[in-house]
This record gives sequence, C-alpha cells and structure tokens, in this order.
Amino acid sequence: AGAPPLLRVQGLRVAYGKVEALHGVDLSVPAGAIVTVIGPNGAGKTTLLSAIMGLLPSSGRIELDGVPQPRPSVEAMVAQGVGLVPERRELFGDMSVEDNLLLGAFQRYRQGRRDHPTSMEEVFALFPRLRERRRQLARTLSGGERQMLALGRALMGKPRLLLLDEPSLGLAPRVVREIFHIIVELRRRGVAILLVEQNARAALQTADHAYVLETGEVALAGPAQELAGDPRVVESYLGLG
Ligand code: ATP
Repeated sequence: AGAPPLLRVQGLRVAYGKVEALHGVDLSVPAGAIVTVIGPNGAGKTTLLSAIMGLLPSSGRIELDGVPQPRPSVEAMVAQGVGLVPERRELFGDMSVEDNLLLGAFQRYRQGRRDHPTSMEEVFALFPRLRERRRQLARTLSGGERQMLALGRALMGKPRLLLLDEPSLGLAPRVVREIFHIIVELRRRGVAILLVEQNARAALQTADHAYVLETGEVALAGPAQELAGDPRVVESYLGLG
C-alpha cells in the first residue's frame, strides 16, 4: 500500500559478453531513505549502479515512482533527478573546484531542467573545505577532498536520488566519518541514497535498509540494523570487534 518507492529494480540482469554479472536483482529505494548494498569484491555492486544509471544495457525492470523506464539512459535518469557519483571520482583535474561544481549545474540545464539548481553556496555550506579551496585545481586535492568535490558536483544537479559507489574507498577513518555524516545530512534534506560499500560496518550503521550482494545475487535483505546483527553478516562482513 502507499506510494511506490522512488526506485524499484526487479529481475535486473546484466551480462558482459557471455558472462552474466547480475542474475536477477530485486531492490527498492523509498523516497528519502538510505539504502546500502554491501558485498565482496566482484559481487556486481558497480555493475548494479551502472545499469540503473543506464550506462550498461540490462534486462529486467527499472521503475522510478512506479513508472517503468524501458530504456534507461543517463540523460533520462539525470532529467528525472538521479545522480551518480562513480567510484573513481572522475573530476576535471585541470579545472578549479569552482568550475567542476559549475559543470555539475550545467549538466542539468542540458537535460532540460529549468528549476532552481543547488547553489554553490549550499554546496560550500555542506563542504567548507571546498570553499577554502575553490580556486585550487581538482587534481591537486587530497583523496577526501576529491570525494567531497565529486559529491558536491552531483549535488549541483539537485538530485532526489544519489547513487554512491564506495565513497569511503581509500579514505582515512576521520574522512570516512565526515563523508557518512554528509550522507545522513543529505537524507535529512530529502535526498534518497543508494550506497554501495565495502565498509559494511559504516554502511549498516548509516542506512535504513540493506542488501547483501554476492556473486550477482541478493543473498540477504532487510532493515540495516537487523542485518548488522545477523550472524551471517557479522561473520562475513563485520568480523570481530
Ligand atoms: P568491486 O567492489 O571490486 O568494485 P563490484 O561488486 O563493484 O566489485 P563489479 O565491478 O560490478 O563488482 O563486477 C562484477 C563482475 O563483473 C566481476 O566478475 C567483474 O570481473 C565483471 N566485470 C565488471 N566490469 C566488466 C567489464 N567491463 N567487462 C567484463 N567483465 C566485467
């Protein structure tokens, strides 16, 4: 009952040539929720986000607000308020922080969205470090600052759903805490998040719902707090302590 979830994926399959990487994945992201997908290397987490964003051909069903997206494309997804922050944090290295942010706003104009974009001031309020470094070239930023800039750039497009691919990868624990703090703040502002993470502990502490993806299939799913206490999750993903 009630409104359909913002994103619903059903029976999603993706193949690289003859090798199938996703074998029929079902998941949904309610509006304004943080949903995490945890799982080992090679489970298909990046593939899942790429397929949802329309970067890879897939079969199965992808719905936004209950409306099927028969041929998802990056253009169509961006136009409907979906943003992707890829794992590699691709930035325009020889452009300043400010110009990278402006490009994030420009893209949504290209997609035909004329409503008010997120202002650079709003992004700087969220990431004060970026304000200090607004004239610095992106390639000279630290790993954490690059992740903040990648997030900030996606936010300039004013998404209602952000797909985040391992935002904590390679970052120091203090920076990881900062990034997760921002993710919670975004939820407070009404942005839904689909968070792919290998840092299962931080992801399960932060998320509302969680899925465990193993070799292209959902092995477990449920409220994040319940999964955090599931012996199978504890043994495979949380370790001791
Ligand atoms: P990681 O956490 O290591 O990034 P992941 O869960 O994101 O892993 P994917 O990158 O989605 O996993 O990969 C899922 C499977 O698909 C792996 O077996 C991988 O080798 C394979 N794969 C990914 N990209 C390609 C590609 N471009 N061509 C062929 N196979 C691919």
